[in-house]
Amino acid sequence: MQIIIFGAPGVGKGTQAKLLAAKLNLAHISTGDILREAIKNETEMGLKAKEIVQSGGLVPDEIVGGIVKETLKDERCKNGFILDGFPRTINQAEILNKILLEISNEQLYLIKLNADDNVIISRLSNRLVCNKCGNILNKNEVTDNFKCSVCGELNSYVKRKDDDEEVIKKRLQVYHETTAPVFNYYKDKAIIIEVDGTQPIEDVTKDILEKLKVN
Ligand code: AMP
Repeated sequence: MQIIIFGAPGVGKGTQAKLLAAKLNLAHISTGDILREAIKNETEMGLKAKEIVQSGGLVPDEIVGGIVKETLKDERCKNGFILDGFPRTINQAEILNKILLEISNEQLYLIKLNADDNVIISRLSNRLVCNKCGNILNKNEVTDNFKCSVCGELNSYVKRKDDDEEVIKKRLQVYHETTAPVFNYYKDKAIIIEVDGTQPIEDVTKDILEKLKVN
């Protein structure tokens, strides 16, 4: 199965992508995670992307397109994949078209998670991430000497630099101006599934699986 998970930053794409990837045995490819890892490791790509990511802008299409091309050709994507955070521009969608033509001719699904900006702003300003495994929690859930329930790391929950209120606003603006039009691009190219992203996590997953007809 080939899936794009689509929607504004903070709508829950990463959380749902992880759950769906485990359930459907798909590779989860998050361009945001790959870029953050490169920034942490100070690779050449990480150094180029650092300022852009931390200020809420978009990394150039050639860089993210290159990441996706290399990853989709990998053995771990043979059973299918779920793309999280890509494509974010029409040009990236065209890059993806070319890659998919080269690797397969399978049906593509696009899952769009919907939520209003005010819900997103509140969610993102309250979210913390584990700096070891990337798990996401609300700041109310994290206490002193908190051990990550996923990787066991102690006191590893931090605020992402791009979850600062001003940066959140910029990311939402970029989403509405540049990324939202990508949805129309896929209307005749993918099976579109729309889900209310403000529901509890497990209800969002259930809705998606029902609409994908794989449950
Ligand atoms: P995310 O974790 O998907 O919210 O991505 C975090 C940040 O990484 C974004 O705000 C961008 O700066 C950068 N990024 C991730 N994916 C892309 C993409 N497809 N195109 C451009 N920039 C991206």
